[in-house]
Amino acid sequence: MADLSPEELARYSRHILLDEIGVAGQQRLKQARILVVGAGGLGSPAALYLAAAGVGTLGIVDFDRVETHNLQRQLLHSDARVRTSKVSSAGHRLRETNPLIQIKEHDFAVDCDNAINLFSQYDVILDGTDSFAMRYLNNDAAVLAKRPLVYGSVFKFEGSVSVFAPHAGGPCYRCLFPEPPPPGSVPNCGEAGVMGAVCGVIGSLQALEAIKWCVGFGESLLGRLLTYDGLNQTFRTLHLARDPHCPTCGKIPKITRMEPARYGIPCSPVRPTPSIPLSRLDHANPPLEVSVEEADQLLRDQPGRVALIDVREPYEAEICQIAGARLIPMREMPSQLTTLPTDCLLLIQCHHGGRSLRVTEFLRRQGFPQTSNIAGGIDAWAVRIDPSLRRY
Ligand code: ZN
Repeated sequence: MADLSPEELARYSRHILLDEIGVAGQQRLKQARILVVGAGGLGSPAALYLAAAGVGTLGIVDFDRVETHNLQRQLLHSDARVRTSKVSSAGHRLRETNPLIQIKEHDFAVDCDNAINLFSQYDVILDGTDSFAMRYLNNDAAVLAKRPLVYGSVFKFEGSVSVFAPHAGGPCYRCLFPEPPPPGSVPNCGEAGVMGAVCGVIGSLQALEAIKWCVGFGESLLGRLLTYDGLNQTFRTLHLARDPHCPTCGKIPKITRMEPARYGIPCSPVRPTPSIPLSRLDHANPPLEVSVEEADQLLRDQPGRVALIDVREPYEAEICQIAGARLIPMREMPSQLTTLPTDCLLLIQCHHGGRSLRVTEFLRRQGFPQTSNIAGGIDAWAVRIDPSLRRY
């Protein structure tokens, strides 16, 4: 067992006073290795509490950079670190909190090639990611690496927490939801909004579960889902059963290795989609989605035959807008149908491509078959077409 120095005994004295922890529990924390996936809204409070608690080796993995719109909830980062790597920003902040522990910075995206190897280097994986694709990828990799996954998610004012560990007898995420929802059918935080303090609640609960797992006290959330409603201030606990037919952890699992195609979106965050030859684009029957590169080329090559419709809210259009776009907020679309051109290809655009996909499907049902969604929305446009646009 790792000895604690006088400095460590003093620093962690309020933990050591707890019967459930004591000196032996604090020594276990010093030996523990915990990986926080995502230095964002959940990863921030979780990593801060884990570092302060004296977790001996704390890994942070993220590929992203700090942006101003992160600062509303991602407390690891500061205004001075906007546009720097999130992992280095997190490392800086966590070393300020506790210089006695080892912080490992993994400045890359978790993907099918590296996930199992990375997870195997840690005792507990804490999932702080916010997309369905990453949630399924992390779940499958944790099951295959036989590591407990402390799950957390937030949506507007709500959140939920659980611990998934089939190797310890509990269910996994796929026991609850075997397959991801179709892309665009569920809005993410960037589309729906999220209360920063709710991330603090859920991320702190995840840190507590990770600490309990490493030290071995209390009742784990293994086999239970804790849900939180911040509007009414209520918690509920649902019991979760393991599914014998689960594709990842069932009796005859279908998922025995990591395959990128299974996770819907690319394993690396920004990968331009291959272009369809524009000469072959059939205006009467266009594809459901086009890439930002294709949309940009269509607008430049065929300006009179293509109309760009922005379905975001007016406040978003004030932050940034693609030149030539007509603003029709999503909720106003049903009353604006008669104003839409019928002799043009309609390209529908929002922030990340989720709302606009729903509008595209709606318009096609309403008799506008010549409608395509711009995948990735204005955010992808800002990254790949026009870097002068402000991102949010
Ligand atoms: Zn399962």
